[in-house]
Amino acid sequence: MEFSSKLLENAVYEMSQLPGVGKRTALRLVLHLLRQPESQTHHLTEALNTMRDTIKFCKKCHNISDVELCEICSNPNRDASLVCVVEDVRDVMAIENTSQYRGLYHVLGGKISPLDGVGPQDLNIYSLIDKAKSGEVKEVIFALSSTMEGDTTNFYIYRQLEAYDIKTSTIARGISVGDELEYADEVTLGRSILHRIPFENSLKS
Ligand SMILES: [Zn+2]
Repeated sequence: MEFSSKLLENAVYEMSQLPGVGKRTALRLVLHLLRQPESQTHHLTEALNTMRDTIKFCKKCHNISDVELCEICSNPNRDASLVCVVEDVRDVMAIENTSQYRGLYHVLGGKISPLDGVGPQDLNIYSLIDKAKSGEVKEVIFALSSTMEGDTTNFYIYRQLEAYDIKTSTIARGISVGDELEYADEVTLGRSILHRIPFENSLKS
């Protein structure tokens, strides 16, 4: 792609670093921004910069938050003995949208994936085990997508938790294999949490 301006080329390059955005789409987006009032671009970059500089991760569940302890963890009406393990913040949002779950979350920040070089030490797993040790958790619900990486991650955590007196369960699969949680409809997802099954049962099937 030949550019008439180095500035344009740089902007397109940076835009094309986003997932799912190729060079052509990046060029279209950049040209769109150039046609908009300057303030539009400034609002966009300001929002991104402020988010990047000031965003926090909840110290308890690792959910994205504006404060040290997220709204869910600091809500006294939530059941702290119940912890739902999810991959990222999108899953928290999806499950919250169902209004069927009153426990807390634990955001792993990914899944174990040896092919991509992601091991347990790269995820928020040890802090989950610490929670288990502390005795405040009675049940851990696995709500990772049922891909090979999701299953591997569930099983790894399950083995780590075996030493403690904790119930482990997995969400019922109204969601077909390989589907991501965030795409499941609210009713299906809500039901799959209410009708969760003991984790051991999922191993037999
Ligand atoms: Zn939290």
